[in-house]
Amino acid sequence: MTLFYPFNLKGTKVIFYLHYCKLLQLKIMQIITKVKELKKILSKYKSENKTIGFAPTMGALHNGHVSLITKAKKDCDIIVCSIFVNPTQFNNKNDLKKYPRTLEKDAVMLEKAGCHIVFAPTANEVYPKNLDTSLELDFKGLDKVMEGKFRPGHFEGMAQVVKRLLDIVDPDKLFMGQKDFQQFTLVNYMIKKLKIKTELVVCPIKREKNGLAMSSRNERLPKAFRDKASLMYKILQAAYRKLDTYSIKEIETFAINKLTIPDFKPEYFSIVDGYTLKPVKDIHKHKYIVACVAVWVGEVRLIDNKIFKNN
Ligand code: AMP
Repeated sequence: MTLFYPFNLKGTKVIFYLHYCKLLQLKIMQIITKVKELKKILSKYKSENKTIGFAPTMGALHNGHVSLITKAKKDCDIIVCSIFVNPTQFNNKNDLKKYPRTLEKDAVMLEKAGCHIVFAPTANEVYPKNLDTSLELDFKGLDKVMEGKFRPGHFEGMAQVVKRLLDIVDPDKLFMGQKDFQQFTLVNYMIKKLKIKTELVVCPIKREKNGLAMSSRNERLPKAFRDKASLMYKILQAAYRKLDTYSIKEIETFAINKLTIPDFKPEYFSIVDGYTLKPVKDIHKHKYIVACVAVWVGEVRLIDNKIFKNN
């Protein structure tokens, strides 16, 4: 059994609390900030043949993130969740500044979900000056479309941090969400290309009741926009229903038109091959097809996707 460390405890109360946990043989979820310390703890677990499951996040957790931990708990013995707002993947400084940071609330959620270790490092810890963490990998164009086109540099930073975190944690399984379709496609490519011995497990998209994909960015949406933003999912569904009767071009145009309403600014609605992320012309020529969408809703940029075909 694990127990969460209550952050509001101070001074002698902390000592009493720790004694109490020890007495009851309760184990507290560990919050680690140092690479060296994390490696030491994990090497002990590994020497006991415990399997390690890892979910990297940027915090401001919601039930989508929790679903990764729940899945990891089913597959692995020890669950590590990292919380690190990675500066190198933000092409927009304002977006980085405004990214929600809610470590204490996140820790409570992770404790409840049964996570064992939270890794919450500083940027200096992830990118120490004396270590070359740069990653030069040709993603064969996977990184140049959709998110790559609208957020230049984003995937270089994302791949860099995932590689670095994989080097540190060296997990048996890596848990990522389908919500970031292009992201996990690139990570999958990187794992194969660099022969990394970690299995990638992709978890389904968790949605709000109205269909809006859960996202840390939703917190920044005013209430009215939060309802309105569910339009993205409705259009993904409507586009799917048109698949047999309309051309891909017609469906993409339909979607962009429907998403062009006051306060909404769609960046792309692309129906692509799920493996190559290249545009689809004839649905019969592809086994795996996904529609991906990015829309500015007010001042918040949201993404979503739906798998149209996978057989
Ligand atoms: P983030 O904190 O946004 O970087 O996301 C961390 C991980 O959680 C990524 O693998 C995301 O794909 C995943 N994730 C984010 N939102 C959801 C969601 N609504 N459902 C499932 N997984 C998600």
